[in-house]
Amino acid sequence: MITLIEHAEVFSPQAQGQQQVLVAGQRISAVNAKIDIQGNAVQRINATGCYLVPGLVDSLAHIIGGGGEGGFRTRTPELNADDAFASGVTTLVGVLGTDSITRTLTNLLAKAHALTEEGLNCYCHTGSYQIPVRTLFPTISEDLLLIDKFIGVGEVAIADHRSSQPTPDELKKLAAEARVGGMLSGKAGIVSVHVGPASAGVSLLREVAASSDIPLTQFYPTHMNRNQQLVEQGFAFLQAGGWIDFTTSTTPQELAAGEVQCAKALLQAWQLGLDCSRITFSSDANASLPLFDDQQQFIGLGIGRIGSLLEEVVAAVRLGVPLPVALSVATTNPARVLKLPQKGEITVGKDADLVLLDKETLAVRAVMSRGIWRYSDGSLPVPVQRDSLFV
Ligand code: ZN
Repeated sequence: MITLIEHAEVFSPQAQGQQQVLVAGQRISAVNAKIDIQGNAVQRINATGCYLVPGLVDSLAHIIGGGGEGGFRTRTPELNADDAFASGVTTLVGVLGTDSITRTLTNLLAKAHALTEEGLNCYCHTGSYQIPVRTLFPTISEDLLLIDKFIGVGEVAIADHRSSQPTPDELKKLAAEARVGGMLSGKAGIVSVHVGPASAGVSLLREVAASSDIPLTQFYPTHMNRNQQLVEQGFAFLQAGGWIDFTTSTTPQELAAGEVQCAKALLQAWQLGLDCSRITFSSDANASLPLFDDQQQFIGLGIGRIGSLLEEVVAAVRLGVPLPVALSVATTNPARVLKLPQKGEITVGKDADLVLLDKETLAVRAVMSRGIWRYSDGSLPVPVQRDSLFV
């Protein structure tokens, strides 16, 4: 299959102006102002009025569901592939959550394979919230070396009453193993760290890096927009050379209680002149988000949404963050942290994971993953192939 996308303004995520993009098989084979190609086999898509951007890379999603902190009834459901495509997400990383007893790595792997069969690019992390972490083989290194889909470890919880209260030594050993496993397998071997609400924040990570040969970049702390204090700790972490991740799923109650909206956290970084190429957004999709009424009574559960990823990118643009910067936190940047060189950019040779956004509304009009159209809002004549068997 050969597809020529014409008349779109390309953000690779850097602004490229109007370019034609040729897709052959699963890859981008040319990006040029004018591409001469003829023949009936070429599918031409007139994308006038659209931005063409890379498929979004979501570095943290509870693909088999999460939650459970309020008893069995509070377990959340699995992620649906169609929801990801409709939100412009083409690559994602699945993790376990607080519960690593009834949620298992074997189940996580099976779901990652299912989502891949449905057209997504799905990876996952070995390990769990608590240390000693769950693994399939006896060690983290073996899991990274021997199981293709595992690319890192996590999310490991710190600064949280639900964590195993890890010591610096425990975290050091875990990071060392992830590092070696990552090196030997040519993968990221990154340690995804769930940072809870306790005031210690990321200080444990700073301590581990300061007292060992483990660099700060081995850690990938998430939920760093939990409150303004943590945002500022995150900025210091960034300036010390680390990566930080902001979570896009939230509730009005969380925001009222002091959580910093993802888009506003990025705006702060941008206005302070910080290196935004070390910042990422992730959705925390299918995590449980408890909801309370005015009297703080529990009234039910919200569920983290994969659609929040693009929504916060758009919100950041509306707040004044330049489109290439806002796009990079959900495309190029996570692809770099996760060491997925085929992802996150529109350049020749990369995987054809592409999203057409409406120029005015920034709504998703069509999504291609590995060269196959997987979603359309109906406004463009793209032949959508659906490999999910669920109707
Ligand atoms: Zn978490």
